[in-house]
Amino acid sequence: MPGIYPFVSKQPHKRAAFFVASLLLISALIISPFISIPLVDIAPFLPVYSTSVVLLESITAYLLLSQFASNRQVFSGFVAFAYLFLIPLVTVQLLVFPGVFSPSGLLHAGEQSAVWIWVFWHASFPILLLLALIAPKKIINQNPADLNIKYWLIAFVFISLLVSLGLALFATWGSHLLPVLIDKDSYKQLLNSPYALMVWGLNVLALFFMVRRARSNNVLYTWLSVALLASLIDVTLTLLAGARFSLGWYAARVSSSVSSMALLFALLWEVNRLYVAAHRANESLYQQSVKDTLTGLFNRRYLETQLAIDIDHAKRYQEPLCLLVVDVDHFKAFNDKHGHLSGDRCLVAVAKQLQLSLNRPADFVARYGGEEFVVVLPHTEAEGGMLIAEKLRQKVSELRVEDKGQLLSVTISIGYAILHHNEDTAQGLLIAADTALYQAKAAGRNCVVAAIQ
Ligand code: GH3
Ligand code: MG
Ligand code: MG
Repeated sequence: MPGIYPFVSKQPHKRAAFFVASLLLISALIISPFISIPLVDIAPFLPVYSTSVVLLESITAYLLLSQFASNRQVFSGFVAFAYLFLIPLVTVQLLVFPGVFSPSGLLHAGEQSAVWIWVFWHASFPILLLLALIAPKKIINQNPADLNIKYWLIAFVFISLLVSLGLALFATWGSHLLPVLIDKDSYKQLLNSPYALMVWGLNVLALFFMVRRARSNNVLYTWLSVALLASLIDVTLTLLAGARFSLGWYAARVSSSVSSMALLFALLWEVNRLYVAAHRANESLYQQSVKDTLTGLFNRRYLETQLAIDIDHAKRYQEPLCLLVVDVDHFKAFNDKHGHLSGDRCLVAVAKQLQLSLNRPADFVARYGGEEFVVVLPHTEAEGGMLIAEKLRQKVSELRVEDKGQLLSVTISIGYAILHHNEDTAQGLLIAADTALYQAKAAGRNCVVAAIQ
């Protein structure tokens, strides 16, 4: 059912995405004159930031992969790949970052390791999203239903994590093979290198194509555009700030968190919306499965289930229970005389009358079939049951159904039985009441007869 697949309601997402994007841009513009102001090195900042990014990206990737497994849209799988890819890079960067766990970083990292991991991280995200935009068409040119999901899930998870870990370890142990980008905390060399322009350009390019795609597609693309805008702001602020622990550097990290958060919130929003929709659909399907379409009363399926429950309850708590079988008198003749449509209208009116005449919440009436109804009266003694049965008979006999200018009336006959013994069953009660009903018919109809039990 494509209708219930994610991101059905585009409008609120588009508005929220626009709001977040504007907020990001305005904040970046406001702080832009001050980005080079040096701030202190807040020791817990990087561990908190990196941990939150890793958590946000893991959950995002998990949700995207489960979406891919259910809707088989390869794009979701490739986006999950991009998010998974960042996890080893962010983790290793935290370990090797000078001054976090040891003055020169763990894992015998070089001075350039952390900055090179930053380059790989901020270049790979736009590259992988660009790939995601073209991959589904170019790489997988087959019917989504034919995809072997397990194989693709394993491939997405392992390839992304392993390649990314390889890249992070290369930056850690092979940084001496890579050009120098950072001197102490200053990024000046990075800014003057071609890598700065490359990383920035890749983010611009990916943002451009994602926004173009977002116009005509589902809002996953819209939120990825926000994530890419946040990533572009992150890169711009980092580069222009020129040094670690400057205002711009901290602001860039906040923007980077928004980049990991944007899609996750959109996915959670949608998961929640789908949960509510599924709950409503479930409730409506349940109602349809227990209701009779003509009269709106409960149907025989509901009667059988609920009567068994009520009888069990009555036996357990030694409470009385009455059951009435109601049948419209000479209804065949009514149909023959007035037509089937008038017969239907009459049945609806009788059903409504029966329903309206019951007062207690536990009482219920179900259409047993044709022109027969069953009324279940839990917590009701024999005398009470008799009174209700007589009341129903009376009310229906007073009923007038308008038909082609004339007022028609019908009567009902009722057989009733009460729960006597612990060995009584629903079936037994129904048979007893039905036998009493036959006696009511034999006694001239429009009357109530109690079963001999
Ligand atoms: P009795 O007094 O002995 O109950 O006679 P009766 O004619 O009511 O009994 P019988 O069981 O012979 O006929 C039941 C009739 O109810 C047959 C059918 O025409 C009518 N009936 C059953 N279901 C419907 C329905 O959904 N709509 C309409 N219009 N008629 C129905
Ligand atoms: Mg009848
Ligand atoms: Mg009948």
